[in-house]
Amino acid sequence: MNNIVAIVGRPNVGKSTFFNRLIQRREAIVDSVSGVTRDRNYGKSEWNGKEFSVIDTGGYIKGSDDIFEAEIRRQVELAIDEADAIIFIVDVEEGITPMDDEVAKLLRKVKKPVLLVINKVDNAMREKDAVEFYNLGLGEYYTISGMSGSGTGELLDKLVEVLPEMPEVTEEVEPLPRFCVVGRPNAGKSSFINALIGEDRFVVTDIAGTTRDAIDTKYNRFGFEFNLVDTAGIRRKAKVKEDLEFYSVMRSVRAIEHSDVCLLVIDATRGFEGQDQSIFWLAEKNRKGVVILVNKWDLVEKDTMSTRDYERKIREELQPFTDVPILFISALTKQRLLKALETAVEVFENRKQRISTSKFNELMLPIIEATPPPALKGKYVKIKYCMQLPTPTPQFVFFANLPQYVKDPYKRFIENKLREQYNFSGVPIDIYFRQK
Ligand code: GDP
Ligand code: GDP
Repeated sequence: MNNIVAIVGRPNVGKSTFFNRLIQRREAIVDSVSGVTRDRNYGKSEWNGKEFSVIDTGGYIKGSDDIFEAEIRRQVELAIDEADAIIFIVDVEEGITPMDDEVAKLLRKVKKPVLLVINKVDNAMREKDAVEFYNLGLGEYYTISGMSGSGTGELLDKLVEVLPEMPEVTEEVEPLPRFCVVGRPNAGKSSFINALIGEDRFVVTDIAGTTRDAIDTKYNRFGFEFNLVDTAGIRRKAKVKEDLEFYSVMRSVRAIEHSDVCLLVIDATRGFEGQDQSIFWLAEKNRKGVVILVNKWDLVEKDTMSTRDYERKIREELQPFTDVPILFISALTKQRLLKALETAVEVFENRKQRISTSKFNELMLPIIEATPPPALKGKYVKIKYCMQLPTPTPQFVFFANLPQYVKDPYKRFIENKLREQYNFSGVPIDIYFRQK
């Protein structure tokens, strides 16, 4: 299980510059595989062999010209709630601003590790200017230049040192599927869970300072055995109207990282919106299984909107990962709850399946022969051999003489063929081309 690190601070201090530096190396890999990055504010990083997830809280409100102090405050509070460590960035050029003071006041009360980072320290002179930030009352600080990278090594040494030890979760050993129920506030997550497990376990509670860790609870319902991942972020009720994408991401990231299959509950009366989208991509980015549950279907006038139209609209939003089960349910009238569970188990099985190398070659090589990758600069790509890798999530490698010549459209073609032949519904898959 990963630690979650939140980057906070007022606009323009250099949060996203620093964030990009943190996730650069890994993201480059992910990008070249999927061809798409949806979320530029959440990613994974690693230092001294320790992996952690990073969230740039500021990234979610970029673009709005006047960000209210209350907004920043709320973001910091949420980061304090959900993250394991907080990096608070300030700007040496600007000095201490009233907003920095506000944020510092919140952070001084926090029991979790808080690292004060003074950014834009591009030269020795500015190093001296940094001293004034002692006045924030947060103690020791780190000076960096997010732009050049100087100072970041020392900061990261400290960060991984202060991150709490997380319980090891091994995907292979755990035999039961781990599900999480995620979605925007009011989509009906608690109603769904209560209807499913038949008890008021997910009642509204205000848990201050209790465990942050995801808790698995084992269930046996309708003949299915599974673990339901329960996190503070999911359990706690939104006290305010949380309409920003950021809140959904912050609230669900731990649960998603910790589960095998995400049941994404959306509100049928609202449609598939920005927040739903960002949770969906969070799951996709983590290579988790996904089932979309369109809840409150009892409220939709069936004359004006058929399931088919509704489904098509959602699928358009899911591009290019459209091979995802979409079910129309009602937590209130308990419609299709069993089906939802059944589908989640199916997605779990799909994600686990292993295709034998001989069968895989038998299937794919003739397809590749009939439709080879287009020649590039007069050169022909030859694919000789392919196999599924022994990884926890489905990954396929194709060995070729000129792998760098295989472009995304061809990868998608291969993926589509694969999905036609095998049931990978709800499961993100990776396709690599490698030198033979
Ligand atoms: P955010 O709003 O906090 O995410 O800030 P950005 O990362 O977008 O950076 C705001 C501005 O500060 C941009 O123009 C960056 O190029 C600049 N910036 C970021 N880091 C540094 C740095 O280390 N030194 C200097 N001189 N400028 C920086
Ligand atoms: P959460 O914030 O995602 O956990 O959402 P809740 O489970 O608290 O539900 C939000 C509101 O939607 C509550 O008033 C529920 O009674 C209502 N609700 C949830 N599911 C359904 C449903 O299937 N049909 C209808 N009509 N209302 C629902």
